Amino acid sequence: IALLASQSFGVSLSETVVLLWALRSSMPLLGRLAAQRNGLVGFFPSYEQVKGLRDRARELEQESGSDVFGGFKREIRMKDIVFAYPDMEPALKDVDISIPKGSMVAIVGPSGAGKSTLIDVLMGFNTPTSGSVMFDDCPLNRYDITSYRRRTGYVPQDVVLFNASIIENLLWSKEDATEEAIKRACEQANVDEFVKDLPEGYETVVGDRGVRLSGGQAQRFALARAILREPELLILDEATSSLDTQSERLIQEAIEEIAKQTTVVVIAHRLSTIVNASYVYVLVGGGVAEEGTYTELIEKGGVFAQMNQLQILETTG
Ligand code: ADP
Repeated sequence: IALLASQSFGVSLSETVVLLWALRSSMPLLGRLAAQRNGLVGFFPSYEQVKGLRDRARELEQESGSDVFGGFKREIRMKDIVFAYPDMEPALKDVDISIPKGSMVAIVGPSGAGKSTLIDVLMGFNTPTSGSVMFDDCPLNRYDITSYRRRTGYVPQDVVLFNASIIENLLWSKEDATEEAIKRACEQANVDEFVKDLPEGYETVVGDRGVRLSGGQAQRFALARAILREPELLILDEATSSLDTQSERLIQEAIEEIAKQTTVVVIAHRLSTIVNASYVYVLVGGGVAEEGTYTELIEKGGVFAQMNQLQILETTG
């Protein structure tokens, strides 16, 4: 099946993270339009679109070190990061962020604050002008970037599903996943809960030529796909769209379950996620304006407390 998936998508399976990223940056508008029209969060690219993006993804394979990434023991530290897009004022100005192993760190802030840029630095898509991303004592640029991304799970805002069965969509993330691992990931992400009601279970074809998943289902699916990789680091770009209470709860449960097992960095829009985070960084205008736990930030009565009071967290993306 893995071979089949690989052939029909025409992409090397190890490129998953790169491809998801390329999809995100190429089609955010399309994704959002489709989402509005159908009341879905998911954007379902066709086979042709995916093939076209493969080349884009390849271009993004950038300079890279040679050490194989084998994880980290204590923390990821984004140290004094400055980053500027060509001919622009810096989008990140001296950002210092610590991501202790096993923690869930939330990044919040208004639109244009630099959240996506920061994530792209963390994934090695943006090379900082100065500063570095450290894994314990080792800088990211010493690692072979592909080996690093293979250990990284990435859940974009707009969920990407292919016109293929659920099982094939999952295997795209990890070609050699065992049936047991797939089952476990689906349980943890609360995916089995809806798959059991589909006409052909895990063999059901999803995407625009198959069964359409609801926004909440698609998000849980994306989580299952990410945890199947047993990532050393999970990067979650939380969807801004509102969901019904039941979906919200199931997603929240899934995130909590995942947070127990790995290190999570989340661009957070939901209050429940922020409350559950170990630590919160508030990014404003490319710099860290505030940091602390949710409770500390509320007590402080600063930018975050204001955002919280005005309930503008969900529209900040
Ligand atoms: P956020 O994710 O918090 O909305 P971004 O990281 O997308 O913020 O953007 C931070 C700043 O960098 C904004 O001023 C934005 O206009 C700018 N920016 C983002 N992407 C690019 C790009 N590819 N080229 C030039 N400027 C960009």
